[in-house]
This record gives sequence, structure tokens and C-alpha cells, in this order.
Amino acid sequence: MMVEPWLLDSVAEYNQSSLNNRDGYSAFVLLPIRHLENILKWAFEALPDEILIGFDPEQSKPISQEMNDLLCGSEHQPELFAGQVFLIGEPHLVNRGDSFSVHHVPEEWVDDLFSNDRGSRGARFTHWMHTHPNCVAIPSAADADAAQYTQGVDMILGIEFSPEGPLPWFEDAEGFRRPLKTEIEEKKGWGSWRSRNRKPVLGRAPTGHFIHGLELIAFHRTGVGINVFLVDDDGNPHGLGPDY
Ligand SMILES: [Zn+2]
Repeated sequence: MMVEPWLLDSVAEYNQSSLNNRDGYSAFVLLPIRHLENILKWAFEALPDEILIGFDPEQSKPISQEMNDLLCGSEHQPELFAGQVFLIGEPHLVNRGDSFSVHHVPEEWVDDLFSNDRGSRGARFTHWMHTHPNCVAIPSAADADAAQYTQGVDMILGIEFSPEGPLPWFEDAEGFRRPLKTEIEEKKGWGSWRSRNRKPVLGRAPTGHFIHGLELIAFHRTGVGINVFLVDDDGNPHGLGPDY
């Protein structure tokens, strides 16, 4: 897998935190890291817009019994949402816009998209994700409304980056936050971010932006949180050792 090392580091920490907190969730999803990396690239290319991504379950990749035993919490509900027993499939970029319009896919555009990609019935995607550029990954009222029609889960990817453009970092929202990496090592010596009064850098986007933080959450339309594990293409969570 050709995923950037800084992203793999962050993912390992995120997965460990997901595992430690599994009893706090009713269910979990497995999102391939490769998809996350693609989505990040699209997110930066679409700035300052948010983007909306649709996914179907990967029917050829059921979640193994071993993973189920490991990742289920004590409150697990086996039939909470559609596609629950499969890895999340390929991401499809569906829309871009501000925090309200991103959820409203224009009808003529939907016709095109669905006729080419979704068959004549215009079937909807099972899972959805949208981005929060320079904003925490906590659902807004508009996000909660949009999720009422989701058969699978809704995900939000919060990205803190610079240069900020028109979007200074915003975190005035109540909710449970799930950063990909909680502590970033301080670089020593000349060029240290502290001495230049800059935020630590997690990684670099293909567009050249500095990424200072990533947050990822998933939730069910009833409002309960869904645990997320970031996996390789075989469904193994990265960074959880063989003994877990
Ligand atoms: Zn939102």
C-alpha cells in the first residue's frame, strides 16, 4: 500500500483509540485507508467547498468473525444499519458546496450521476461522508437532517490546515471528538514550529497545504455514534498488533 507514512502513523493511533473505546459504541464500520487518502486529496482540490462522498458496502468483503470478536463492544447491535457486515466500498464524489448546499445534490446532476453509475433506478448510496474544512468533525443541524435518509452510516471528516484561505479553524461546537492523532512530536532546533509560532504539521496535502489535524466520526441516523476502524484492503485495522 502506497499510503503516506504520516497518515499511517495517525491511523494507528486512531485505531488504538477506537479499540480502547469500543464499549462506548453500538456498532462499527471498516473504512479502507486507501479510500481515506483519496478523499483527502479530493477535499483539498475542492477547497473552500465541502465535498459529499457516497459509498456502497463492498459485498465481496464481509467482515471476518475474528474482526467481529475483536472490534465489537459490549453494547453491540448486530443489525443496526445497512451494509453493517461488509467493508465500506469505493468512494464516489457526489457533490460539493457549503455546509448546507453540500447535502442538496442538484436533480439534473443526480440524473446524470445515477444513470451512469447507479443504474436506471437511481439507487442511493448506502453510506455517506462529507468534509468539514477547518472545522471540527461534529454534526451540524443540517448534517443531522440529511442523515435521516441514510440507510448505512454518515461520516464526517474534519481537516485542520493552512494556509487557511477564507476558513479559519472553527471549533465552537459541542460533541465527542475523534482526532486521528492526539499528540504531535515537537520538532527540535532551527525551524521548530514553536519558535516560529506555528502549529505542528501532521502531513502535507497534494495541493501543498499543511495538514495540522484530522478528525473522523461516524453516526447512525438515530444519533448514536458508530466506531470507525481504518483498515487495509483485506479488512485488517492498521497498527493493531497481532496480540491486539
Ligand atoms: Zn457538516
